[in-house]
Amino acid sequence: MSAVARAIEVTGLVQKQAWADGVMPPVEKVRPGLWSVPVPIPNNPLRYVLVYVLELDDGVALIDAGWNTEEAWAALESGLAETGGSMTDVRAVLVTHIHPDHYGLAGRVRDASGAWIGLHPADAEMLQARYVDTDGLVERMSLLLTDSGVPEDTLPDLAMASMMIRSQVTMAEPDVLFEDGRRPELPGWDLSVVWTPGHSPGHVCFHSEERKLLLSGDHILPRITPNISVHSQQHDSPLGDYLDSLLKVRELDTEEVLPAHEYRFAGLDVRVDELIHHHGERFEEIEAALQAQPGRTAWELTVGLRWSRPWEEIQSFMKRAAVGETLAHLVVLEKHDHVFREGSMPSRYHLGPAARPQPPTA
Ligand SMILES: [Zn+2]
Ligand SMILES: [Zn+2]
Repeated sequence: MSAVARAIEVTGLVQKQAWADGVMPPVEKVRPGLWSVPVPIPNNPLRYVLVYVLELDDGVALIDAGWNTEEAWAALESGLAETGGSMTDVRAVLVTHIHPDHYGLAGRVRDASGAWIGLHPADAEMLQARYVDTDGLVERMSLLLTDSGVPEDTLPDLAMASMMIRSQVTMAEPDVLFEDGRRPELPGWDLSVVWTPGHSPGHVCFHSEERKLLLSGDHILPRITPNISVHSQQHDSPLGDYLDSLLKVRELDTEEVLPAHEYRFAGLDVRVDELIHHHGERFEEIEAALQAQPGRTAWELTVGLRWSRPWEEIQSFMKRAAVGETLAHLVVLEKHDHVFREGSMPSRYHLGPAARPQPPTA
């Protein structure tokens, strides 16, 4: 038996070329009245967030906003000018989730334009703890990392790893809360909110049935798998949520996916299947590692997994994300009795009664 492997079709060809060349893609008109504006992210391999500009009768709406840096602000301003508008035309900022590359500039845009900001309540809830009263956050993170078996000399670095990015977000409470299925008020647009928890608890995509478009935020990207981590500001099983959220969008009538990073593409169902497959492989990899050496900690498992570059070269922030990802897989495996944990501080993992038999490893 053989199956024809299908692949996604990249529709943002200019964006993909720019990606390959290591340069910023241009501002592009994606559809009548719809533009993509790349906004740079400082010192980050993702390089830019794609802000989408939707023309309204009386101004424009933005999907996501960019980091709170002068460079990002300038890029957003000049991008809006290229679309024929300006910052004062912005009537709404629809934010897919609270990560700083999406939410960072929302408050400043509102200050300049009077726009309303929309966000899912599950992400809105986290704003205070994430960006204002952070002492508790660092403390909880340290406990989680200790339980994961992170060595003592590495721990402080990892626990503090995201504190320096706080300056790049202005604390802006949303004006509108996006419940699942809600249709934000945007004259001329039929967008509906699709709640897709996983990458963050309140992540949302926006779907236009009429234009057959999915604005996918970080939920679905064409090339990389979004980070799905267990941490103190996540639901119990973010990866379980994420896999459900992938299935939730898979059948939406969609001709083109407009992601927040990388480039546009067609083939939503194909990409969903690829992402599910990727996590399936990770589950197997973890089970094989536990069969070879039972009683490993999440940290020991993480260091031993395959990553896109050698472990020693990975920055603290990414290492912490990697541990969080391993934990996210372990939680799903635990739920299905493939794995159980023993002890605490650190927890050690063993194969459970439902674990798949693994081929012997060399
Ligand atoms: Zn994100
Ligand atoms: Zn992002």
